[in-house]
Parts: sequence; structure tokens; C-alpha cells
Amino acid sequence: MSLFASEPFPAADAPPLVVVAVERAVDRSPDGLTYALPPALAALPEGARVEVPLGRGETKTPGWIVRRIPETEDPGVDRAKVKYILAQDESGAVLPGELVQFARWISAYYACPIGMTLASILPAAVRKSIGRVERTLIDLAEPQPDPSATGAKKLNPRQKQALALLATLPRPIELTEFAHAAGYSSPAPVRALIASGHLVAHRKTAVEAGFIARSGGVAPAPEPTADQRAAFDAICADLGRFSQHLVFGVTGSGKTEVYIRAIEECVRRGKRAILLVPEIALTPQTVGRIAGRLVHAKVAVLHSGLTAAQRNQQWTLLAEGGADVVVGARSAIFAPIPDRSLGLVIVDEEHEPGYKQDSAPRYHGRDAAIRRAQLASCPVVLGSATPSLESWLNATERRLSRLHRLPKRAPGLQVPKVSIVDFAAERRGFRDGRVNLLGPTLREGIATTLDAGGQVLLLLNRRGYANYIGCSDPRCDWTLTCTECDAGMICHVDARGQIRRSFVRCHHCLAEQLLPKTCADCGKPVTVFGLGTQRVEEELSRTYPALVEGQTMLRVDSDTMQTAAHFHDALERFGKGEVRLLMGTQMIAKGLDFPNVRLVGVVSADTALALPDFRASERTFQLVSQVCGRAGRGEKPGRAIIQTFEPDAPAIRLAATGDFETFATRELTDRKEYRLPPYRRLARLVLRHPGETECEKRATDLADALRALAPEPTNPRAGGFSGVVEVRSATPCAVARIAGRYRWQIEVLADSAADLSKLLADARSRGLLRLGEELAVDVDAIAAM
Ligand code: ADP
Ligand code: ZN
Ligand code: ZN
Repeated sequence: MSLFASEPFPAADAPPLVVVAVERAVDRSPDGLTYALPPALAALPEGARVEVPLGRGETKTPGWIVRRIPETEDPGVDRAKVKYILAQDESGAVLPGELVQFARWISAYYACPIGMTLASILPAAVRKSIGRVERTLIDLAEPQPDPSATGAKKLNPRQKQALALLATLPRPIELTEFAHAAGYSSPAPVRALIASGHLVAHRKTAVEAGFIARSGGVAPAPEPTADQRAAFDAICADLGRFSQHLVFGVTGSGKTEVYIRAIEECVRRGKRAILLVPEIALTPQTVGRIAGRLVHAKVAVLHSGLTAAQRNQQWTLLAEGGADVVVGARSAIFAPIPDRSLGLVIVDEEHEPGYKQDSAPRYHGRDAAIRRAQLASCPVVLGSATPSLESWLNATERRLSRLHRLPKRAPGLQVPKVSIVDFAAERRGFRDGRVNLLGPTLREGIATTLDAGGQVLLLLNRRGYANYIGCSDPRCDWTLTCTECDAGMICHVDARGQIRRSFVRCHHCLAEQLLPKTCADCGKPVTVFGLGTQRVEEELSRTYPALVEGQTMLRVDSDTMQTAAHFHDALERFGKGEVRLLMGTQMIAKGLDFPNVRLVGVVSADTALALPDFRASERTFQLVSQVCGRAGRGEKPGRAIIQTFEPDAPAIRLAATGDFETFATRELTDRKEYRLPPYRRLARLVLRHPGETECEKRATDLADALRALAPEPTNPRAGGFSGVVEVRSATPCAVARIAGRYRWQIEVLADSAADLSKLLADARSRGLLRLGEELAVDVDAIAAM
């Protein structure tokens, strides 16, 4: 790096010292361990990945240079005892300084050791140099060897000809390419010319980086509405300084248009932008739209649907400053944008739970985005039709972010007509003796839509065939549960091949067995009941001759969509119109923009309401509004039909009328009363252990230890806190055992993020929080773990 190139080499007796954070699950306070740089590596910058000897056994361990200790600073260690760094990591990866600083915040806030955090930021494909090619470039030696010198090789006419040809070619040129041009059938004659000193060669390793962002063609820019203009004008006015914006726009209101205009302006000013989208499969759709509009911008993509080589390419491209915009899922917030060039961060569908990472560091992509923008002194834009209550509170009561409303759909788009149907009443209409999951209203809706040439989206948030397997005798209460987990088994039907085979699977440990035929307690036949996407699929094929599984009807859930490519392919077939009905779990509720969807059906809006979580209402509201928002995105109007056993639940009623503000006000009143997030910060610690009593003991001990660190409720300032931190008693998790391990949790609630961070930092420095198999820490937990 040029930053250190001009520095003189320090004297041999005083090698430069650096702080290295090793990739281990333990905190080495404060940041890492001190090592010395050997002369060959004296210029390594912060952010470089290295290998160091660790511990008495000097185990070779990967780590990161997080700080170069200035020569004038007392390193606080005995220089004679400091060990040398062994090598720079083979990938040669170096994170930009801003990213290292960002990683420090992630590490501190989400209570994850810095080395582990940095390791998670660097994609494995980059670390392993996947897709990197080695090339040998050659050029004519200057001067050419003297032919009269003793021992000089005499050139034959063919070789002379080759050299003459090379003089006319653009140089340096790749060895094999030149061999080919010179008419050689192998590279050996060229190597001979290198050996004889007529050619010089140097090796170059490179990641062949190109843009994989595809545009579906250049799209014309629509005339922005006044609301859109007000939003992007306000954002553009803030370019160059940190500020938060919430674009609260109903589905189809043209939020993406606001993002595009803001990105356009950011790029025009020579800065780069990050756009986060919640779902991997949506990235190609969004990328296509962005690339089609920003024809002069270079758009990179980062998401888990890429091949390893592609991921390395896109990462390298970004690190080299070759892209203006990066669009990607959650982890794209760690895009290696060169220092001082990030100008805008956007988080689309900011309310999506998918932004929370479910392994350490358990960061929230949206909150991380806010912090990254703050470090880069640039605006951050959050967008949603159903903002999270955190963001809503920030934009309204707390006035931390500016609120931009887009209350109307984009010109030409109509708001879908939403009907709530009481499923209990609907069911009474059936006389066929079957248990039907689609009521008469929804059935009729599907039939009319299909007849009119429209497409249908059908949502059911539960995979499998049926979620209860029990005894057919009502006097017997036996149900099939997993032997390794405290959870019921889910019935699935395997339709591969000719034979339909029923089996049961545990959705927690993934154990499988064949569906038992008889009750384990009384021997009577087994019966399955409850909801599942497979069962709806079966009912649809039985009811509509036009719907054929796998052809005109596709099921989208994590069973059928094992990779992002599967999902992308399903969406493409739906987009082309060959698939008439797409049914599935919440994977289909998000962000899809297909103009011919004229009906959205929700098989059961109750599945999210039943979650053991204080956010159950919020999730239900989001799910219902979002999925309804997929209808009516074309010229033809759209409608939505919602089946529920709780037609009066406010979350469902208000979602159907599209009244977010009333919902938010009601919900926030409750949260305030119960002092729940967003009024307090919540961290959840989960302890896991194979022994039930041991698990409980560890959880109780940890809760006691944390409570001892918490501030005095009467005088928090004495301990350096600013408010109250409540450490609740340890309790078993909602699923109290998974894969043979018991699970207990501790909830910590604090009035401020700073207080929560302080408590966890104190606990870390005492070695209380060693992350791993036995302990997970989830700061700002958004769902039960
Ligand atoms: P959202 O992200 O808010 O759901 P989109 O940005 O997807 O909405 O916009 C919905 C549709 O409306 C898109 O097809 C988009 O091209 C179109 N659109 C957006 N803004 C305008 C506008 N000002 N005039 C006409 N059409 C627009
Ligand atoms: Zn299980
Ligand atoms: Zn029984």
C-alpha cells in the first residue's frame, strides 16, 4: 500500500509492532495481541489478514492487523518477548480502513470478538482466492542480449521472426497468447526465449473481474411524482453528511424510483452507493432495474446466490474501486468500498427480519447500515411500506430521521381491494366431508382470476403437508414428537418418482422417519391434520385442471428452493407467465413486482399471530400488507383475499385497510406500557447443553453474574451507566431442546443501547461470554432463537 511506501525501514533491532486480532471465539483484550512485523512484511497495513503463532504451542493461527503501533508509542509489552508475524495470508486480502473501523463497532455492539467479526466480513471465496488466475506476461528484453558475447545463444530464423512480430504487438502480452500468435504449438519455445534473455517475463495473478449485473434493457425514467421528488431532493441535499431518512411509501408507490434518483446523484458526485435488499432472489430483479436506469454507472452485486468465483470477482472489483454501486443482501453492508468514497447507503424493505444475521456476529443489516453511513458521513435511507416500529419511532417521536411519505401508488397503479374472510364461517359451507384449506371465496377468486388470464400468488407460512401427527382416537392424546427436540414432527409427502411416500421430519434437527401407521400408545390408526404448503398444493391440483404441479403451478418454500438459483428460476418462469400460480411461504411475500398478479390469497393469516413473540402482531401486519401489495402492479386492478380465524384481530384488520399509522400508534402504546423494544434494547443470551440440570444451572449462574454487573437501580450513574438495566431470570427457550441439547435463555433489557453495550462489554472482559456451541448472544434480538 502506498500509505507506507515512503516510510523508512525501521532499524533492525526495532521492528514495527502491530496489534493482531486472532480468529478465535475468545476476546483478547482490548483489541488483540501484539506482534512484530518481519522486514519483508514491514509495510503491511491495518486490515491485512496474517498468520501468527499463538500460545505456548505457537499454533499457526489466522488473524488481522487491526492497528499499527506508532514507533513513538509505548507498546506496553516487553519487546524481546514479542513474536513475529509468520506470513501474510495467501489471498493478500486487505480490508479498507473504514471497514476495519466498522468491524470494531460490530464487534463491540454485537458482543462478538473482533477477529471472528473480521473473519466473517471477508467472504470465504476471497479468502480462498477462488477464481483467481495466474498469468505470465512477457515483453522484449531491453536491451537485447549481445549476439557476439561469449555463450550467447544464436537465434534461428523462426525465433527472429517471432521477436519481430512481438515488436509490433501491444505489450506486455500473455505468454500463451504470444505463443499462439507466433504460430508455436506450445509455450516451450517462448520459455526458451525467456531463458536466453531475449524476453522478460513477470507473473501476474488476477481475479478476472467483470460485471455480472444484467439489465433487462435500458428503461426510460418516469416523470417523478411530487412526493417522490420531495423525498429524493431531501436526500440529495444531505449528500456529504450523515443523516437518516425513512421513506414510508405504500407498496407500489415508487420507492425504488426514489432510490435510483438518489444513487444517480451520488454517483454523479463521484461517490459510491450501497443498496441492500432483503431477499437474495430479489437481487437480480432489483439489479436489472437499477442497471437499466443507471446506464453509466457500474453496478456490482454481492449475495449468496453467486458462485464462489463470482463472489470473489465482485468483491475484488469493489475493493479495487471498480464499481459505483453495489446491490446485495445483508452482508453487502461489508462491501470493501475504498476509504472516503462511500456516499450513500440504502436499505430497501428495512423491516424485513431477514436483515438479522443468525450466526455470530448477529448483526442487523439495517442498524449496521446506519452505523456505516455515520462512519462514512453520508446519508442512510430506509424504505418500507410497513416500517419496523424501531424506525417508525426514530422518524416520529424521536425525530432522529426525516420522514418522507409516499401515500399513493405510482401513477397508473391501483390499490388492491382486500377482503377478510372468516374461515370458521367459510368452512361450514363445505359438504364434501373433506378438510379443505381453501374456502369458497378464495376458490372462486382463483377460478375467476385464472379464467381471465391473470396470475395468482398464494401465501401459507407453513411448510410440509400437515403440522400435527396424532392418534385418530379423540380420547388418546398421543402426538408424534421428535426424540431429540421438544417439538412436534411435521408430515411431508415425497412425490419424487411414481410413489408418493409420506414421511415425517423435525424442522429443528431435520431428523426424518417414515410416517408411522399406528399410535404408539394405543395402536389405533394415526391421523395427520393442520396446515402445510404441500397440502394446499394437493388441493389446488384437485380443484383446478389448469394447475399442474411443477408446470403451471410452483411451490416456493425452503424444501423446494434449496438454492437461490432455484428461486430465481421460479420467479423467472412466473415472470414469463408460463407459471400461473405461485404458492409458498413468506419467501413470496416480499418485494415481488409482477404486473399480471391480479389475486393474492392468504391461506391463513393466523400462523404469524401465534408466534411466541411480542412482535407477533407486527409480523402479521407486515406479512399481510406486504403480500397484498404484490397485487395490482399492472394495468388491471388487483385484489387480495385473506382467510383467518380471527377476522377482528387489529393487525389483520388494519393491514387489510392499509392503515399502518393507526397500527403503529396502537402497537407502540402497548410496547411503551410493557417497556418492550423499541422503548428498551433487548439482548437475548441462549445457553445450550446436553444435560438439563447443567443447562439450567449455567443459565441461572450467568444471569446472577450479569445482575451483579448491572447498575444499582437507585443510582445507576455510580457504575457509569445512565439508566436501568434489567437482567431477567433464566427460563427455558420456546423450543426447550433441539438436537439433544437443552436450551435456556436470559433476557437483558436496557433503557439505552449504550447501557446494554456497557453491561455486555463488562461481562466479556470478565470472560463470561465465550461464544460457541454452548452460548449465543443476540443483541437486539428480533425473534426467539
Ligand atoms: P415500491 O418499491 O414502492 O413498491 P416500485 O418502485 O416498485 O414501488 O414502483 C412500482 C411501479 O411503478 C414500478 O413498475 C415503477 O416503474 C412504477 N413507477 C414508479 N414511479 C413512477 C412514476 N413517477 N410514474 C410512473 N410510474 C412509476
Ligand atoms: Zn428434532
Ligand atoms: Zn392413541
